[in-house]
Amino acid sequence: MAVPMLDLRIQYTELQNESDALWRDVMSNAAYIGGPRVTQLEEDIASYCGVKHCIACGNGTDALFLILEALGIRKRDEVITTPWTFFATAECIVHMGATPVFVDIEADTYNIDPDTIEAAITPRTKAIIPVDIFGQCADWDAIQAIADRHGLLLIEDACQAIGAGYRTRRAGSFGRAAAFSFFPTKNLGGAGDGGCITTDDDALAERVRLIAKHGEAGKYLHTAFGVNSRLDALQAGLLSLRLTKLDAWNEQRRSAAAYYRQQLSGVGDLVMPVERDYGRAVYHLFMVRSAQATDIVDFLRDRGIGTAIYYPKALHQQEVFETLPGYQKPRLPIAEACANKLFALPAWPGIQTEQLEQVVDAVHAYFD
Ligand SMILES: *Cc1c(COP(=O)(O)O)cnc(C)c1O
Repeated sequence: MAVPMLDLRIQYTELQNESDALWRDVMSNAAYIGGPRVTQLEEDIASYCGVKHCIACGNGTDALFLILEALGIRKRDEVITTPWTFFATAECIVHMGATPVFVDIEADTYNIDPDTIEAAITPRTKAIIPVDIFGQCADWDAIQAIADRHGLLLIEDACQAIGAGYRTRRAGSFGRAAAFSFFPTKNLGGAGDGGCITTDDDALAERVRLIAKHGEAGKYLHTAFGVNSRLDALQAGLLSLRLTKLDAWNEQRRSAAAYYRQQLSGVGDLVMPVERDYGRAVYHLFMVRSAQATDIVDFLRDRGIGTAIYYPKALHQQEVFETLPGYQKPRLPIAEACANKLFALPAWPGIQTEQLEQVVDAVHAYFD
């Protein structure tokens, strides 16, 4: 039996009747964009994350852009972030004309290391963007304390972490605002692109809404230069349906993670991801570290097991950043040591016990 890296089908089959009815309803009413389903999703997500506002938008990249634009990150500002993330986190900083400043990560969670942040702060630093990487919250209390001490804006990239816990709170409730992605492969994914911003800040919520809709404050009254970033009714309806299953699906990811942890700890040089006791990870990806990661990936793929390296390079090793004026390439020993050394094992909701066993057997076979 092949074991794909990800199989999204149960997200359809477990809600098949409801999803089909939704599709027919949207099609027959021919009201495709915005509307009551989007408003409902915004209420559902805000309440799920424990925040006052949710603003739906086109995708997770837009969500980050809208937050930075609304908060007034501008040319010559510096924004501290993690090099261990998807490119979009840093790309949105560049699109503001600001400079990303990468700091090192924790060797066991791969999240931004709070102890590296203060040394990177300069008079130009405006904001910090930690990422809840692979579905585990960054250490928000420690990072918030630094932001408060230095008067910096704090923005959460929660794109990989919907449902993750940190003490009594959930991902999406940290900093001034958070960004989520509903790309199909994320823990809460649609049938296309989608994203949202969550925040407790009334004025920021209003500003984000304005910018996401061409700065239109009233019918053809434009008070800012914005963009077009919106969610369609089909995505919104589907995401509200799937949100009702999210906790159960995240629990299945956690079970798969627990099984791998139990079966693979101590095998070869494999290092299992550490789950901090401050929270509850939702394993967007279950990442294992090995000096032989690229060989293991080839070995597993030859045996029909889907796996992938995240990430082949840390972001500061992407040469494109060196084209930025004023950018200084840092030395980040931990992130550099992780490049090409972390691979994901299949841990999606609905994965069968036999499939998990097959993965474990194949990994054992590699080291035998
Ligand atoms: C997926 C992702 C994004 C971007 O989301 P899109 O919906 O693909 O634009 C941003 N940051 C992180 C950490 C992500 O995983």
